[in-house]
Amino acid sequence: MRGCKFCAIAEGKEEASVVYEDELTLAFMDINPLVPGHTLVVPKRHFPDIFSLKEPWGSACFLAAGRVARAVRAAFGAEGLDLLQLNGRVGGQSVFHFHIHVVPRYPGDGFGFFSKRRPVTREELERHAARIREAMEEVL
Ligand code: 5GP
Ligand code: ZN
Repeated sequence: MRGCKFCAIAEGKEEASVVYEDELTLAFMDINPLVPGHTLVVPKRHFPDIFSLKEPWGSACFLAAGRVARAVRAAFGAEGLDLLQLNGRVGGQSVFHFHIHVVPRYPGDGFGFFSKRRPVTREELERHAARIREAMEEVL
């Protein structure tokens, strides 16, 4: 898509430090890494987010993320590793071409995502699960 920087990278029109490529996906270093080894996996076709992502690019991205994760862990000696995937401005997304962050984790790296969790009742969980099950029928 014109004006999309990840399309430009996927088409070889913009510079990137590529670590992996297959028919459907590309993985390259994040230009502004959270930690050393922070890598992004993108489909070579433009999809803005998880809501629009189609097969076979979706499966291919997660397969590629697994491969990149194993390589990043081996290369950087990471003790753990997070996959992050943000959607929508309110979700923290800033580049509107679907991507999976592969973020190696090191002891004391000082950031965490699940900072505001709270326990809820089983009734509340069941109410929420029922809403999602109902919506599932429309999206499958
Ligand atoms: P988001 O917040 O949309 O999930 O993440 C976008 C990510 O893309 C950010 O981590 C940012 O550092 C990275 N990024 C933005 N522009 C470029 C670029 O031109 N090249 C590379 N390699 N990474 C980029
Ligand atoms: Zn794009």
